[in-house]
Amino acid sequence: MIRKGNCWHCGYCLLGLPHERCPECGNVPKPPKPPPPTMTFADAATDLIDFAVKLVTVYLLAMLGPALVVAGLIAYTLINA
Ligand SMILES: [Zn+2]
Repeated sequence: MIRKGNCWHCGYCLLGLPHERCPECGNVPKPPKPPPPTMTFADAATDLIDFAVKLVTVYLLAMLGPALVVAGLIAYTLINA
């Protein structure tokens, strides 16, 4: 098992060396992986607003459907009365 601070190729301890290259096998340590993208506050706020808009839209559509049916029934009843 290669520990941190050791050469990834041969395991030679690289701690305290003035250069990155392994003196044992000549390998250069792999560059560290870039950190994963983190969500900023603005991104989170945008996602939250987007979610709220969708939620309100679905709510309004769900409420509007039955209301239109009831209004249609009332209008039908009034016209045919
Ligand atoms: Zn090495």
